[in-house]
Amino acid sequence: MALRNVLTVEADDESLRKKSREITEINQKILTLAEDMKETLYEKNGVGLAAPQVGVLKRMIVVDIGEGPITLINPVIAHQKGSRKEMEGCLSVPGVWGIVERPEHVIVRGLGLDGKTTEIEAEGLLAVAFCHEIDHLNGILYTDKVIEYVDPNEINQEAK
Ligand code: ZN
Repeated sequence: MALRNVLTVEADDESLRKKSREITEINQKILTLAEDMKETLYEKNGVGLAAPQVGVLKRMIVVDIGEGPITLINPVIAHQKGSRKEMEGCLSVPGVWGIVERPEHVIVRGLGLDGKTTEIEAEGLLAVAFCHEIDHLNGILYTDKVIEYVDPNEINQEAK
């Protein structure tokens, strides 16, 4: 396992804007990438990471909102319902947070690392995380969808 370098918009906006390709074979290279992405996500204290963020234009994401890691290959949003506004940040856009409107409830379909199709029902933060990461696979950043940017200093003050 190894940590991967996370691309930022300042350093490499071009790669982050490309559409990632479907994964057609789950080989050792893909499994290693999955492990590396997980390790990198935890190192960065993120809740999600998409392969293009580490410079690999393949459709794989890892998400962990504190309930254990979920790795999905070729994920798609099969169904979505409702909407909610939530604050988001992104490891590729450091130091910035903003409010984004996302579905309240989604069903995400993809392949697990064992190659089997899996469907995951997600609400709230987990739904947000899936939508955010799947957007990355299409070259879309959450900053494209921000309704309002949030000053982290104000958030800290509200918490006090
Ligand atoms: Zn992101």
